[in-house]
Amino acid sequence: MSTTTSPATYLDRLDRARARMHEADIDVLLVSVGRDLPYLTGYEAMPLERLTMLVVPKDGEATLVVARMEAPRVVELPEVFKLLPWNETEDPVAIVAGLVGRPSVASIGDTMWARFLVDLLPHWPTSSTRYVRSTEVMNALRMRKDAAEIAALAAAGAAVDRIAADLQGGRIALAGRTEAAVSDDLGARIVAEGHQRVNFAIVAAGANAASPHHHAGDRVISEGDIVLCDFGGTMDGYCSDITRCVFLGEPPAEVADAYEVLRQAQAAAVLAGTVGTPCEEVDRVARRIISAAGYGEYFMHRTGHGIGMEEHEDPYMVEGNGLPLEPGHAFSVEPGIYLPGRWGMRLEDIVVATDSGPRAVNDADHSLVSV
Ligand code: ZN
Ligand code: ZN
Ligand code: ZN
Repeated sequence: MSTTTSPATYLDRLDRARARMHEADIDVLLVSVGRDLPYLTGYEAMPLERLTMLVVPKDGEATLVVARMEAPRVVELPEVFKLLPWNETEDPVAIVAGLVGRPSVASIGDTMWARFLVDLLPHWPTSSTRYVRSTEVMNALRMRKDAAEIAALAAAGAAVDRIAADLQGGRIALAGRTEAAVSDDLGARIVAEGHQRVNFAIVAAGANAASPHHHAGDRVISEGDIVLCDFGGTMDGYCSDITRCVFLGEPPAEVADAYEVLRQAQAAAVLAGTVGTPCEEVDRVARRIISAAGYGEYFMHRTGHGIGMEEHEDPYMVEGNGLPLEPGHAFSVEPGIYLPGRWGMRLEDIVVATDSGPRAVNDADHSLVSV
């Protein structure tokens, strides 16, 4: 993972985490399995019952506590963290608790196994330690992508763009095949284009496209179908996510007209993704255009989600999220129109807010291509 990231990057991230801990009066941050750990250290822990824990005191050195048998997998960065392996017969929770004096406020990683927190409670009882989620420390950090992260998102985006171009160019066979078979093709292409992992490959044809997260199934794709493909994977630790629709044959006027509304709504929402704009405004821009055309009730999901080391992460482009976009915020813009029992359509790009305006990492043809 993140093989190009230098120790300086991790030191910077830990410094920024500590700065937030000072602001929020958090004494210690505990991070276990999940994405926060590789973000801070480069180490991706296997999701094992054996404890892995990064212990970050507000002031002082970070320590990565791992089972001795896992230690060889850790790329040691002595200037970033101290590696502390524990032996099979030791109590790793006691080791973690002993690294810092009893904290007043402990910030707990969201994806830590509950068992470790439960075992920690006798060491740091709630009568003296207040527990908070790590979101306050980690989300603001992880939302603001640095140059290397943006480059990784762009590379992953370019890879799925090539697949979208193949789809639109008729180089991925559709007619007479099942959604599931096409989904398998997309998955294989995601890997062939350089991703290490396929995260999803939604293929929804005809009326199935009216279900936004349709599971590709046995339906055979045929002439007159709209085919919605929403796919992505993880490349060097960062995610891709793109949606394009193609039409087998000439779309009827109703579908073509609705698609033009969708295309305009999506393009306007991408342009709205400027630094300082509240996230909910990106949603409103898309929704206004779709509603004005009479399809408001058929656009039933938020306009987008943040993306980075996870497919869905903060910030969310949704009504009620007044968070202003900052440089480095990366998110999807993916409005859709779904007519139950008839057809559905969605159009999705990943966008990064920058000081010079919104930068879309995807540029595959945005029109409803006939294949
Ligand atoms: Zn989705
Ligand atoms: Zn998607
Ligand atoms: Zn998405």
